[in-house]
Amino acid sequence: MKTKKPVCVTGASGFIASHIVKQLLEQGYRVRGTVRKSSQNYPFLLALPGAAEHLELVEADLLAPGSYDKAVEGCDYVMHTASPYKNKVKNPQTDLVDPAVNGTETLLESCLKSGCVKRVILTSSIAAITDEPDSTKIFTEKEWNIMSSLDRNPYHYSKTLAELAAWDFIMKKRPPFDLIAINPFMVIGPSLAPSLNTSNEMIRDIMIGVYPGIIDINWGFVDVRDVAKAHILAMETDTASGRYLCSAEALHMREVVALLKSSGFDKYALPKANMTGKIGTLLMKGLSFTQPKDIGMYIRTTIGRTMHYDNSKIRRELGISFMPVRESLIETIKDMVKWGHLTPPKK
Ligand code: NDP
Repeated sequence: MKTKKPVCVTGASGFIASHIVKQLLEQGYRVRGTVRKSSQNYPFLLALPGAAEHLELVEADLLAPGSYDKAVEGCDYVMHTASPYKNKVKNPQTDLVDPAVNGTETLLESCLKSGCVKRVILTSSIAAITDEPDSTKIFTEKEWNIMSSLDRNPYHYSKTLAELAAWDFIMKKRPPFDLIAINPFMVIGPSLAPSLNTSNEMIRDIMIGVYPGIIDINWGFVDVRDVAKAHILAMETDTASGRYLCSAEALHMREVVALLKSSGFDKYALPKANMTGKIGTLLMKGLSFTQPKDIGMYIRTTIGRTMHYDNSKIRRELGISFMPVRESLIETIKDMVKWGHLTPPKK
């Protein structure tokens, strides 16, 4: 299927969205991306192969009602990725929740008004599934994050409320389009934009000695190119439905550091001290109070807990196979060096 109509991608300048735009253009789709008026971030999109002929950019803002009317006009498919992804905010309600939730509702209203949209693919998150790994449980798409609030992991809260608002919209308004949610875990990989994304920044932090030691924490990783592919497959697969947990593999910080060491990055300031035991975890919980509020909270709700999840639905229903995390991590680091976000150690 190659629709002649443009595919709308909101927040086109973003880390994930720009890969969606790139892959859509490579596959011969026309793309209409939305960017913010205030944004300086998007000129790189215009240099993507095929952009001159097939990419159109329009302005839209999550906080402006009706803002997406023009963007979705004449589109069959809309990918809604725009949402603030920040770990440190002054006001969680206005900086995270309002744009995430109101923006999703605004976008869906525009899709409804358009009368042409057939499917909306929403970039949700593992954050809407849980903010607290639980060693005794295997997380699937059935799970919902019921723990977050404005005071506890507000980014997770914003993603949960936004996805709930989207499903609620579908239930109540019965629009002529369906909704698919993609729920990625930690997205890493090369960036098309010069800016450093929040999730790649976490890898940089490991490389530059931000962590006092190897702590008892694990993350699910997924390459940004696979996340983009998942969005496109969700659009192209008629039988796709519901939510898709999108993550390749969960690794403990110990495994991440070992992998980086064995991949030739051992000269960086990788954490050395083993803080994975009970005392290390207690110490880290204490230290978390010296961190910015949201980062401290995230540490306290994840440390000492192992995340297990089941990614079989996306593999089975969308036919996706994930890139090995090792490859992805190596490319992430090389890419951060290329953009000047990471300085290699002197030899
Ligand atoms: P980025 O920060 O790179 O992209 C976010 C995009 O949202 C940017 O294009 C940004 O525009 C846009 N945006 C933010 N606020 C507004 C606003 N008020 N109005 C219009 N646009 C706005 O993040 P990612 O690419 O990493 O994230 C994209 C999506 O994926 C988000 O929904 C995020 O929650 C989700 N996600 C990300 C994960 C990750 O690990 N990276 C994991 C799971 C989910 P501008 O350039 O103008 O700031």
